[in-house]
Amino acid sequence: MTRLCVPIFVEDPEQALADAREARDRGADIVEFRVDPYFHGSADADGAERTERLVALVAASPLPCIVTCRPVLEGGHYDGPDDARMALYERLGAMAGADGHAPAYIDVELATYKRSANLKQKVNLAVDHPAQLRPLTTQLILSAHDFQTRPPNLVRQVLEMQHEPACRVLKVAYRARSLRDNLELFDLLTEVQNAQDAGVPTDAGEASPGTKPVIALAMGPFGLLSRVLAPKFDAFLTFAALRRDKATAPGQPILSELLETYRFRSITRTTRVYGVVGWPVEHSISPLVHNAGFEAVGHDGVYLPLPVPPEYEHFKATVLALIDHPFLDLGGLSVTIPHKEHLVRLAREETALGDQRWSLDLLSERGGAANTLAIRRDARGQATRLDVRNTDAPAAIAALRAVRPDLQRVAILGAGGTARALAAAFRLRHTEVFIVNRTREKAETLVRELLTAESAGDGPGAAPPMPAQGLRVVEARELSSLHPDAVINCTPLGMQGGPGPSESALSLDVLCNLSDGTVVADCVYRPLATPLMSQAASRRLPCIDGLAMFLGQAAEQFSLWTDRSAPMQLFQTVASESLT
Ligand code: NAP
Repeated sequence: MTRLCVPIFVEDPEQALADAREARDRGADIVEFRVDPYFHGSADADGAERTERLVALVAASPLPCIVTCRPVLEGGHYDGPDDARMALYERLGAMAGADGHAPAYIDVELATYKRSANLKQKVNLAVDHPAQLRPLTTQLILSAHDFQTRPPNLVRQVLEMQHEPACRVLKVAYRARSLRDNLELFDLLTEVQNAQDAGVPTDAGEASPGTKPVIALAMGPFGLLSRVLAPKFDAFLTFAALRRDKATAPGQPILSELLETYRFRSITRTTRVYGVVGWPVEHSISPLVHNAGFEAVGHDGVYLPLPVPPEYEHFKATVLALIDHPFLDLGGLSVTIPHKEHLVRLAREETALGDQRWSLDLLSERGGAANTLAIRRDARGQATRLDVRNTDAPAAIAALRAVRPDLQRVAILGAGGTARALAAAFRLRHTEVFIVNRTREKAETLVRELLTAESAGDGPGAAPPMPAQGLRVVEARELSSLHPDAVINCTPLGMQGGPGPSESALSLDVLCNLSDGTVVADCVYRPLATPLMSQAASRRLPCIDGLAMFLGQAAEQFSLWTDRSAPMQLFQTVASESLT
């Protein structure tokens, strides 16, 4: 079982004990006392008192604990002499004899351990190991951290730790440069898992390399995957902070997220992985909604935010690596800004290279943008079908038609991925479409490409093309004379964290001159009350915020991935609560 460990920076031992109790009450299995902010290693009365207070903290710990006094060189706070922290470890280890309440583990950096025979001997005095003569219970975690990148000597470090007889658990942590850096850690953990499954002993000493339990974590914004999926790969533990301001490493999730959003306790080797690919993606409510839905219908899956930088090369490399990773078991992706067109491009390029697993639905084909990938796998876990779908446009149209069933002509603001799919979908319904975009050239490209795709008559179920004049680029100021039945914002204007969070996608002039009864819809859902929605409401125009579209597209994705209907009431509740 992968343990859930709450790390606690000890600045005041009383507070650290209170935090440890809170960690226990909120479901942690183990705590790590990071004593380096408190312990300075001086040989005076203050130093002695601090040692005694740490001994008392460990003795009173409500959970098994790891004690770590991390030096500055490895990203910690301790800049005293090594001998002093080794003496602290030895004092703590010796508590086993006194009252049996010694630390379960001490964590010592591999670099420190190897630095001299003297230091190694001192560490070994504090822990249980094959040559230990005293009845000690504390075990040794050897660790290596890199706060910049994946260390070039990672494999050597792992082998060195494996071969140290006193080492019981290995820890490697490095800053991920992309999502792909998580995959190498999964490979490492899988190798250990396979060795254990083959019956190789898991203890130190004479055991073969590759058999000791491993903590393998990626740090930083790309590292969440490694932290949440630790139980899928039988990692020894993962860390979660009590609160955001208590994190001890970059990218560490908080306890409630891990237990409630990601349902950490239900993740096992068989859990299928899903996620939302975008940039930025941390504001997405999709993880909350889909994870709640998986739990409600009993689907063995977990859904994560997957940040991928905006360039196509990043998207391609990451998505192909995630699909083809032999043990990740990726079941599907939501794809959001700015990658919707990239998904279609990737499917087309891979198909052209001979990969017949990809298929595009009519809307993705016509619009050149898609928001969904559904992956079918065979019994061996190989991806056999990669279905690219657009669920945005049907969801937006359903929301609009619920308010205005007689839509004849619509204005779309924007010419990106969402705008393209909507234009294609409206055309299939023989609705007239006006495109308004900041960069007119991009809007003209959209029109040209959509008309070309329509005239190619692609795919089964393709409707006969609509007259070309039913699709055109216009300026926003023309809208009042064109009398659209609906105006739909498909730009990120008004979106929290976007390029213009306080800007409206339509100027007040234009909005005021729209005909009464024109429906104003926004794709942006965070916040629900965008400047556009607020202004349209003041003008007493019927409004549809981004939530209806969000729920519709998410429900369709959920069904594609799970073969079950989405629990709509739950989706609505979870999404509304997180947006208010
Ligand atoms: P995209 O492909 O990046 O396209 C963005 C479009 O917005 C482009 O046409 C761009 O114009 C325009 N734009 C960007 N910044 C602008 C600015 N500062 N001023 C004026 N125009 C600007 O994005 P997308 O994937 O289509 O998504 C668009 C929005 O819809 C996002 O906010 C997304 O979150 C939202 N959305 C919501 C849902 C939902 O479920 N509710 C579903 C899909 C999308 P240029 O051509 O001039 O660059």
